[in-house]
Amino acid sequence: MIIARSVLELQSALDPRDGTIGFVPTMGALHIGHRSLIDAARRENDTVVVSIFVNPTQFLPGEDLSKYPRREEADFKICELSGVDVLFYPDVSGMYGEDEVRICAPDGRGYILEGASRPGHFDGVLTVVMKLLNQVRPTRAYFGKKDAQQLALITQMVKNFFMDVEIVPMDTVREGDGLALSSRNVYLSPQERVEALKISASLKRATKQVMQGNLSAESIRQEMASILEPLNVEYIAIVNRAFESIDEVILGNTIILVAARVGTTRLIDNVWM
Ligand code: AMP
Repeated sequence: MIIARSVLELQSALDPRDGTIGFVPTMGALHIGHRSLIDAARRENDTVVVSIFVNPTQFLPGEDLSKYPRREEADFKICELSGVDVLFYPDVSGMYGEDEVRICAPDGRGYILEGASRPGHFDGVLTVVMKLLNQVRPTRAYFGKKDAQQLALITQMVKNFFMDVEIVPMDTVREGDGLALSSRNVYLSPQERVEALKISASLKRATKQVMQGNLSAESIRQEMASILEPLNVEYIAIVNRAFESIDEVILGNTIILVAARVGTTRLIDNVWM
């Protein structure tokens, strides 16, 4: 595995290679959710590139940028054992200069849900993903459905800017008890980890309601809210794939999303149906 710490090193690692490139952008502290993206990229492409970059522009002032988990050595090992060809590990000065052009998230779906709770977050996400896609020039890039709104906005950016890359959505990987894997789970105390299970439990109940024929968004939301108590819930949302709010679940075109704080840790999760 080649570790490229600059764009120049990345390009000299990639230039001699023929065939397809599968790309997995991450912020590190890798877990088996990331692994599933890397494994898919490995199966479907000749070359696999993973980036690890804790992108400062997607954190709002007061968020967890400085304490975001950093695990360089373990991450390198995981990438190596997963058959990654090139690990791109740039520093902030290699990615950003002074007074730069930025990508803006769309006014509508960039500023609801996650975008309402974290205004400007998606500008940072889209800007860094644009940079990374231009640096790596992958055939396919893999993103988790766990960050559903991010996935939708990246897919839209690629379309709006006529970018030549296939965005591949990947299912959410969970612990045995249902908790969606997240690098931020390390912030949870053992007690908070138990509390956090209410999030996946609420989504499981929603799925069950839908399977039993209850398609009313309002009644699903109410049921979920009762399961989530006493967590500090930021939103429970039921939207179609275009992220428009809907009154009735439409099978094959619905995402049910939750954002909640467990202690000081903010967690998100969702189900697609
Ligand atoms: P992050 O390092 O948190 O920025 O995540 C990098 C990529 O991994 C994003 O596309 C995430 O959506 C994806 N991801 C994070 N957690 C999971 C999970 N539990 N299952 C599947 N993909 C995930």
